[in-house]
Amino acid sequence: MGTLMAINPATGKVIDEVEETSLEMVPEMMAQAREAFEGWKTLPIRERLHYFKRLRLLLVQELDHCVEIIASDAGKPKVEAITAELLTTVESLRHLEKHGEDVLRTKKVKTPLALLGKKSYIVHEPKGTVLIISPWNYPFSLAVIPMLSALVSGNCVILKPSEITPMIGKLIQSLFAKAGFPDGTVQVAHGSGELGARLVAASPNYILFTGSIKTGKKIQKAAAEQLIGTTLELSGKDPMIVFDDAHLERAAKGAVWGALTNSGQVCMSVERIYVQQSVYAPFIELLKKELNTLRQEISDDTDLGVMTFAPQVAIVKEHLRDAMEKGAIQEVGSYDESWHENDSFRLEPVLLTNVTEDMKIMSEETFGPVLCVVPFSSEDEAVRCANDSEFGLNASVFSKDIEKAKRVAARLETGAVCINDVVVSFANPHLPFGGVKNSGLGRYHGRAGIELFTEPKAILLDEGKKATEVNWYPYAGKYPYFKQLITAYYGKRIQWPSFLAAYRKLLKKSQ
Ligand code: NAD
Repeated sequence: MGTLMAINPATGKVIDEVEETSLEMVPEMMAQAREAFEGWKTLPIRERLHYFKRLRLLLVQELDHCVEIIASDAGKPKVEAITAELLTTVESLRHLEKHGEDVLRTKKVKTPLALLGKKSYIVHEPKGTVLIISPWNYPFSLAVIPMLSALVSGNCVILKPSEITPMIGKLIQSLFAKAGFPDGTVQVAHGSGELGARLVAASPNYILFTGSIKTGKKIQKAAAEQLIGTTLELSGKDPMIVFDDAHLERAAKGAVWGALTNSGQVCMSVERIYVQQSVYAPFIELLKKELNTLRQEISDDTDLGVMTFAPQVAIVKEHLRDAMEKGAIQEVGSYDESWHENDSFRLEPVLLTNVTEDMKIMSEETFGPVLCVVPFSSEDEAVRCANDSEFGLNASVFSKDIEKAKRVAARLETGAVCINDVVVSFANPHLPFGGVKNSGLGRYHGRAGIELFTEPKAILLDEGKKATEVNWYPYAGKYPYFKQLITAYYGKRIQWPSFLAAYRKLLKKSQ
């Protein structure tokens, strides 16, 4: 069995070691989950929610400890660890505590006239064992929030956290254990993609994956072979559109935060900024001014953290190299060839103009602290540029004309749009979260995010007092009356006498 090293990317120091889960453990973990499922699914939801409350209180009590681990394992500023990771998670816990019972309640639905005298309702049953596979950029919230969404309806969960931030996987494991979740209800498998693939192959009942498109496709393929459902939360290249009637200072501050928070390692990062020509020059000046105020240092008050993962640093540098070679202008930043010899995880923010669609930095996910700004002259052009991408996760529109902003939002090919804001649609647990095009398949969060992990069972109830039904045997002589019934009921106007006459005939013929 190997060991995963937790390395603080800001210092390069090993801060913890986490024992890998062996591949041979996978069948045992699946068996444990299946055994635990028998008990967990039968608990009334209120009892399951007691565990959620205990976890929420534990998180609040251990806030500093959690922030410390998340900040040091992923290289985040503490403010980003407490807001984007902890705050979103406790908010999600509270949301499930408040609304879970209602979403999962058995619901009576209407029964059509064709099924006269019967009742219909929907029961939400858990799927069984849900596999959650999570990435390194928000290693806490992107693991815990889907875990909770699956647990609330009575599923058991196996989490395969990212091997790049193993200490956070260990933290999650200990928090669920401390909150007292029953044995086998929540298990954490520590390891690399090979372990993830082995878990996928072990036939869980559902998979929620967050990560790259490349891995998402592999998982989708393996899941299809076993007819397992998946939700895939994948990459982005999010556009921001700034109209000339926007609050420009707000738009500039929003663009800088949206592009640089978490060092730009956000699936919903602002990666392409389209600005109306008439305000382009002042907007660039505002961006420069805002960038000059930022602090990047090793301190609790730093605005900018460090990158988390060396291969991602290499991608960002390659995108910068390619852009500069093709004529991009560096308005802010110190990027030059020497960056490629430096193995530091601390990347300075870069502001680029004169960027074009043939540059990697404008078409592929960069996932780094870079702002790319392009002017546009009309609403149509802005929408065309924003939609000209294989991705569609989130987008932002800045304008004081809310009707225009809503109109543009409706035209954008994306899973979410923030109007006069950036990124934060994720933080509202009432809103569905997910992408279109290559940014993913399916949604979680919101009502749909709870129902996602259930099998909606349809129940049709007849009191069972009649000996037969009109559509049962015998068929002899019934055809004309069914025709009369359909014509009378579904034609231009409902003709009740004709409908009832046909129905009575059918009843008679059924005796
Ligand atoms: P990744 O695809 O490399 O890894 C994600 C997870 O999948 C890790 O836990 C990894 O061990 C596991 N994995 C790797 N190969 C596997 C396999 N064959 N079978 C099963 N599991 C396997 O992604 P990453 O580099 O960790 O994350 C960054 C990516 O995630 C970025 O592209 C980012 O845009 C995306 N992301 C998307 C969202 C979203 O919600 N849409 C959120 C955050 C990150």
